[in-house]
Amino acid sequence: MTTFIRFAFYPILFIAMLAYAAFELHQPAGKLGGHYGYYLTALAILMLLVEFLFPLRKQWRMTWNSFLRRDLPFMLMGGATIALVNYYSAMLILHLGVSRGEAHLNLPLVPSVVLALLIPDFLWYWVHRYSHESRSRLGNWFWRMHLAHHLPQQVYLLMHAVSHPINVLVVRQIMTLPLFALGFSTEALFVANLIVGLQGLVSHYNVDIRTGWWNYILVGAELHRFHHSADADQTKNYGAVVSLWDLIFGTFYYRPSQHPVALGIADPANYPTDRQLWRVLKLPFGA
Ligand SMILES: [Zn+2]
Ligand SMILES: [Zn+2]
Repeated sequence: MTTFIRFAFYPILFIAMLAYAAFELHQPAGKLGGHYGYYLTALAILMLLVEFLFPLRKQWRMTWNSFLRRDLPFMLMGGATIALVNYYSAMLILHLGVSRGEAHLNLPLVPSVVLALLIPDFLWYWVHRYSHESRSRLGNWFWRMHLAHHLPQQVYLLMHAVSHPINVLVVRQIMTLPLFALGFSTEALFVANLIVGLQGLVSHYNVDIRTGWWNYILVGAELHRFHHSADADQTKNYGAVVSLWDLIFGTFYYRPSQHPVALGIADPANYPTDRQLWRVLKLPFGA
């Protein structure tokens, strides 16, 4: 069973996601994404169940304590931040009179989706890499904003949501504004968003899923788990969804069938713990 989970579970999820995308693209105009809530709920329940039954490391598992004292508050804050961004984006569109439906980018769906994945990930790659590697004043500030995501000493499905609200805000702008400005079609954005969502979930998955050569295309658990390593030499793989920018700029770190020994940061004594919520929230403000 574990061999099946290791090699077949992720391809099944990916194909199911593509099938769901095809289903939505065949809905009447204006109904795109109408079943997204069902899709996401089914996906999350299935993934949580498999993670509960087949954890890669028992010590990285979600506990009631980690869920209630860390993940849930961050999920609520992240959700509120996204709602706020969506709200002011909608206001901006209303006042500036820009319609997303008027796609300027007249490309077929597949190349549009590829570009809609590559462009924001390029921007995030550099912001993310700068946060980790630059120790300038600004780099330090970016690191303290990003740190909340690296304080946990576990990775698992719902830990994906552990991010400072300012980090959520920055990521959200990077993911939406360039694509909006370039005029991608709603269909391309919808499919790209499904891929981003699935890769985000599997990236933090505490299940030993292996994808072989696919790691050179999309960032999943085998790459992003190393990004959460407490060993600074392994904290590479800055891309969120595609591997291309890490491959081009020399930060791709892949060791098939190996896993980090410990997760978290190299110098935890210098920072609050992941359960000291208020202190973590104050990190970007120098406290
Ligand atoms: Zn990071
Ligand atoms: Zn992560």
